Amino acid sequence: MKGDPSKLGFATRAIHAGQPPDPRTGAVAVPIYQTSTYVQSALGEPAEFEYARVQNPTRFALEALVASLEGGATGHAFASGMSAIACLMTLLKTGDHAVVSQNVYGGTWRYFTHLLEPYGLTFSWVDTTDPANVEAALKPETKLVYLETPTNPVMDVCDIAAIAAIAHRHGALVAVDNTFLTPFLQRPLELGADFVLHSTTKYLNGHSDSIGGVLIPKSASHGERFYFVQKSQGAILSPFDSFLTMRGIKTLPVRMERHETNARALVDHLLRHPKVQKVLWPGLPEHPGHAIQKRQASGFGAMISLEMGSFAAAKAMLDRVRLMAFAESLGGVETLISHPASMTHASVPAERRAALGLTDGLVRISAGIEDVEDLIADLDQALAAV
Ligand SMILES: *Cc1c(COP(=O)(O)O)cnc(C)c1O
Repeated sequence: MKGDPSKLGFATRAIHAGQPPDPRTGAVAVPIYQTSTYVQSALGEPAEFEYARVQNPTRFALEALVASLEGGATGHAFASGMSAIACLMTLLKTGDHAVVSQNVYGGTWRYFTHLLEPYGLTFSWVDTTDPANVEAALKPETKLVYLETPTNPVMDVCDIAAIAAIAHRHGALVAVDNTFLTPFLQRPLELGADFVLHSTTKYLNGHSDSIGGVLIPKSASHGERFYFVQKSQGAILSPFDSFLTMRGIKTLPVRMERHETNARALVDHLLRHPKVQKVLWPGLPEHPGHAIQKRQASGFGAMISLEMGSFAAAKAMLDRVRLMAFAESLGGVETLISHPASMTHASVPAERRAALGLTDGLVRISAGIEDVEDLIADLDQALAAV
């Protein structure tokens, strides 16, 4: 496309933003610039592209794309979701404090407690479903409020706008891990957050064939800082993974719609199934976060948790699934099913898991985009073993 994409709709930007035709050949898809360095024209004449840790056209295209979709100043792509989080956390120094949703991604909890606490950063783990808990946890040295909504796998929902207002009154910045909903369904920067980040490994790439992360700040000054961190720490996304992630994002809107339609059908079926004790999905009117999510997002996503009542019941079912992939991760076109307590959240100590409601009978489904009748049939035959 030619011209300013910022006025275009989301699905149009998902295909065109940051991706003008290749200036040399007119290639419609941004080429994979698989190079480590670039020839410079003359001594003392600075070039736009010098060394690929710092500048790469394929990565830059993806970064412009995600900045457009989230409505941020800049985009920054990393080798993983965790390295995007690591870049964000360089804003904190020894003595600084952060308030964090108590049920964040297990790897985030591990990184903060095991790697950052030894550097003298402190964290308060808070039930952020009530903004008053965030207010109560703020200290003079609080620099950051770090949120996830909905959380994984207990599906806590928190009010981003209310929490951002409280944090800003106290001079703290707000970051949201938006991996579960994607900018198609929820845009935290529009709700008052200062940073949004993703594991692109999940829905943004969407095809379970790449590990990556992005970080998008609202302000250009934070963007400059993050660009400096990319260059200095070097945990950047490769050209090939940048290409794959851009390719995935082109179909994000149609995938997310289908993911959610399938999730709703699975939830309806599971709610009526006698072997399933409880179904957690923010799209259910009785879910405690339903009203907030309806207000701050345009959908409910496709992550579902079910309570099977015991480890034995969960195991009986998980050992029998055939079509659904028994695997960690989420957000792929294929339906993935997992046991959080022993897989994604194994690094969280048992007593902490119990406090969060993350039981041994909990099973998590990331609804894919297959024919939903086939998914229901697979669940039924697996549940028959319970
Ligand atoms: C997977 C995940 C991460 C970590 O991302 P990686 O790409 O695996 O490093 C962070 N947050 C959430 C919510 C995730 O699901």
